[in-house]
Amino acid sequence: MPVTASQTEPESIEQALPPIAFVDLETTGMRPTRDGITEIGIVLSDQGRITEEWSTLLNPEAHIPWKIQELTGISNGMVRDAPRFEEVAGEVAELLQERLFVAHNARFDYGFLKNAFRRLGIDFSPRVLCTVKLSRCLFPHQPRHCLDALKRVHGIHADQRHRALADAKSLHFVMQAFQQKVGSEALLSAMQAQYRRQSLPPHLDEHMLEGIGNTPGVYLFYGENDVLLYVGKSVTLRTRILSHFSSDTASDREMRMSQQVRRIETIETAGELGALLLEAELVKQRQPTLNRQLRRYRSLCSIQWDIRGGGQPEVVAIDRLDAANTPHLYGLYKTRRAALKTLKQAADDYRLCHKHMGLEKGDGACFGYQLHRCNGICVGEEPEMQHRIRMLEALLPLKIKAWPFNGRIGIREQHPASGREEIHVLDHWCYLGKVSHEEALEQLDTAVSARLDIDIYKILRRYLDKSGSIEIIDLAS
Ligand SMILES: [Zn+2]
Repeated sequence: MPVTASQTEPESIEQALPPIAFVDLETTGMRPTRDGITEIGIVLSDQGRITEEWSTLLNPEAHIPWKIQELTGISNGMVRDAPRFEEVAGEVAELLQERLFVAHNARFDYGFLKNAFRRLGIDFSPRVLCTVKLSRCLFPHQPRHCLDALKRVHGIHADQRHRALADAKSLHFVMQAFQQKVGSEALLSAMQAQYRRQSLPPHLDEHMLEGIGNTPGVYLFYGENDVLLYVGKSVTLRTRILSHFSSDTASDREMRMSQQVRRIETIETAGELGALLLEAELVKQRQPTLNRQLRRYRSLCSIQWDIRGGGQPEVVAIDRLDAANTPHLYGLYKTRRAALKTLKQAADDYRLCHKHMGLEKGDGACFGYQLHRCNGICVGEEPEMQHRIRMLEALLPLKIKAWPFNGRIGIREQHPASGREEIHVLDHWCYLGKVSHEEALEQLDTAVSARLDIDIYKILRRYLDKSGSIEIIDLAS
């Protein structure tokens, strides 16, 4: 009985590979939600052969920075009369339809196209394959996987580096080189493996995630040369870390994060409070490049006002809160300027008199009175008590909450799965440190008292307000 060839021969790579679109973009920057596309190059390949080459310059509707003009050779003049993305979107969508989207550092090109389509209300969600990741998987000992390195290693010659079509075409040859060197089977299984870990950043090894569980703690992302990029916290570390990498097309910061991250470090804590406090401390101490910067301030400011005296509010420097001063303080500010700004805003919102509050000098009517923004205490039109009550209304939302305990306390956190225990020692919104068991509290008692910190104050206020069952140890005596 005759047997047809296709039934006996093992599938060749050409037959096994899906139709591919090799894609490369040139852009005006790195941020997919804000920067524009200046050039698209697409090379279609079916059964291992190039079947179509397509490219166009695009008007990015933005200025191309000089550095990028130098890199790509695409100048502002060249794209001035080029079509805008919406004019070619239909054609691009048709070319990419039902094809595997292959790009070098695919997250970048995919992110830009996804956003460009999204702005037109089109959902673009192809299956994506990244040749950086593929190369890392197939040749783990090779030090570099940028396109220039791959071309060198695999002997691919193409000119016009950093132009879209030339780079897209190089990718086709890179794939062919992969197949020749490792064989069809290994290439296909590496591709399969990548689909499974679709959401990992290009330069991050999968084993970096080994051993990271869903416990509370802090995570640190490191980039090239072990530069600290980002510090974050979560009560479920693993899930949170992975979520950074799945949403990268949505925000520029997430995009930059997953493009740059090379190594992840985690520090487990016993609970949420420990994670919050450690995150704040690490961000301040180590200044990661992608965090909103929290700086240590020498001294904080507050607005001091005693309603009983009816005097003028004063901006005061403050480095501790205690039972004596807290009742008269409204807000914590990083600078004197910020405190004054808040005070002026409160005055304007509540038709208070700048002159009466000491925000304006001189005699007679205040400037605001002439603009009908002051109810007129300065010219005797408003009774002092009425003004005082409105001022209280204005300042009350800013009032610093009195420390709701007698003095020093410990907050015990314990993680049910890991058994890890931490006791955080606090006094008047200051964090004095932590110990891992109650016996060690003795040693901490002699420690110097910590400075008042605006971020710690906010963390503690939120934490004590929302958490229902906190185990508090009274250490006041
Ligand atoms: Zn006035």
